[in-house]
Amino acid sequence: MEFYVLTIFPEMIDACSGIGVLKKAIEQKKISVQAVNIRDYTFDRHKSVDDTPYGGGVGMVMKPGPLMKAIQDTQKKSDHQCKTIFLSPQGKTFNQNIARELALYHETQTDLILICGRYEGIDERICNEFIDDELSIGDYVLTGGELPALIIIDAVSRLIPGVLGNDQSADEDTFSGDLIKHAQYTRPYAFEGMTVPDVLLSGNHKDIYNWRLASSLIKTFFKRPDLLEQRNFSVEEINILTHWSEYLQKIIQHGSIHCTNSLSST
Ligand code: SAM
Repeated sequence: MEFYVLTIFPEMIDACSGIGVLKKAIEQKKISVQAVNIRDYTFDRHKSVDDTPYGGGVGMVMKPGPLMKAIQDTQKKSDHQCKTIFLSPQGKTFNQNIARELALYHETQTDLILICGRYEGIDERICNEFIDDELSIGDYVLTGGELPALIIIDAVSRLIPGVLGNDQSADEDTFSGDLIKHAQYTRPYAFEGMTVPDVLLSGNHKDIYNWRLASSLIKTFFKRPDLLEQRNFSVEEINILTHWSEYLQKIIQHGSIHCTNSLSST
């Protein structure tokens, strides 16, 4: 899958795509990330990509001409169908489901063209005529679309088969099954007086599975209860939650915690 990023700061894209998992995925030709400099599509001496807004007001707006030429030239360069996305705080909020949908373009050999605005944004006529979708990375305003583009590339790439060393690790992530990922520990066993739950050292796969499910449910309950609102709980999950509500009842009644590692007894 090819990601083309239309930007006036190609060095931001090159710097981040040359690191870690993305770098490896590019080397292994699972993905490619190409920054396209919008200034290369200007024809004036100053290579200007922005102008003052009609109607007055503060700031500058990105001109439609260079953007249109950059989009059309990129579409021509790509050997595949392209989906054009404008990064904008006004767009649909990007999330793991959208990341999954975009990763499926890998199967249909569709490339993504990501357009990064700067200044006060881009001329509306580009949004109306040359854009398939607008995506936001959250309800706040950044100075440019480069970081949002990189976030989307990162989140989508790791869902493309073969990009992560172990394909399973994306399946077990937070949000993959609408729950937050369970607590995780590594060596040393004892750290600053805190030890690892013994069940994780037991080698008993069923107990470890139960402990992790309980950990996921409880973390989700405390950190993101909204994720549980629409959930169809399995019998196993109901048992865990019942056990925990009884445990919490006891704490409320006695005013203290007597059972320290209750998770492992579920
Ligand atoms: N004046 C614009 C508005 O109020 O909607 C905001 C322009 S912002 C300063 C400049 C550019 O940064 C935008 O065109 C967009 O490409 C990018 N940007 C800013 N915040 C973003 C967000 N939350 N998600 C995606 N892109 C964002």
